[in-house]
Amino acid sequence: MTPTPHIAVLGSANMDLVAYVAKAPQRGETVTGREFRTVPGGKGANQAVAAARAGATVSMIGAVGTDAHGTRLRSALEHSGVDTDLLRTVETATGTAHIVVDDDGGNSIVVIPGANGTLTALAPGDEGLIASADALLLQLEVPLDGVLAAAQAARRHGVRTVLTPAPAQPLPPELLAATDLLLPNEHEAAALTGIADDPRAAAGALLSQVPEVVITLGSRGSLYAARGADPVVVPARRVTAVDTTGAGDTFAGTLAVALAEGNSVADALGWASAAAALSVQRTGASASMPYRSEIDGEAQ
Ligand code: ATP
Repeated sequence: MTPTPHIAVLGSANMDLVAYVAKAPQRGETVTGREFRTVPGGKGANQAVAAARAGATVSMIGAVGTDAHGTRLRSALEHSGVDTDLLRTVETATGTAHIVVDDDGGNSIVVIPGANGTLTALAPGDEGLIASADALLLQLEVPLDGVLAAAQAARRHGVRTVLTPAPAQPLPPELLAATDLLLPNEHEAAALTGIADDPRAAAGALLSQVPEVVITLGSRGSLYAARGADPVVVPARRVTAVDTTGAGDTFAGTLAVALAEGNSVADALGWASAAAALSVQRTGASASMPYRSEIDGEAQ
């Protein structure tokens, strides 16, 4: 039996404050909405939940505030089995994402980083935790200095780093040098390379900076490329998507688990695709993420 992998995640934890309206307000306008929901989110927390539900031992390095959102985020992570010993509580507001969703499915979002913005360096215990992990998952919703410190700690201890470069922004060479697997969606890949509508070419360009790249292509699946090998395209499952929020984070968390268990890249991509396909058939981000038994059933 494969030993349970240990995945470390350094990243954001946000409370998503979602207002549902017929039509989003213009500047100076007030509209009456239909519904309001508070939903745990943040790419770091979402990837941690995805990996934990997929069967890994997961530890989250991050920060929440002293408010009720922070308490709720911590318990939501723990409820999914994520270890929060290194999730700091800091004297500021928890990060929030203010989301307006209109009847056409369009949305506009204001993110206030709050506590996430304090993650500028590693704290005592963080490096030891990273050193004990099989993989470190990173995204860009916390300060680059913190992401870089974590990636370099992983590199010092030979731990595989998987970086989701979202939200898209220029990446410092030191961070790319400490990244093993870069995992952009097609928009992020285009922003990083200047190459749009040609994922193979974008992946080829990224391989000059990192050894392995997976570009996710929504309902068109994903493309894997490594130096010295032909790219592999893994089609997405044909399903009826009701809410694709969190599909990328489900894919990242489950891919890291499958790779850490020693599966081939092709098998790991297939398993992550099965997991992401399950998530898009349900509403919510972390709420839609599947458990291991469901993924195994789907991936048969
Ligand atoms: P998000 O920001 O919504 O979390 P993303 O843009 O980071 O997502 P995508 O490329 O949209 O990531 O999706 C990630 C993976 O999820 C895809 O590679 C695919 O395997 C799966 N997926 C996404 N959309 C669909 C869909 N409509 N049907 C089946 N699988 C899907």
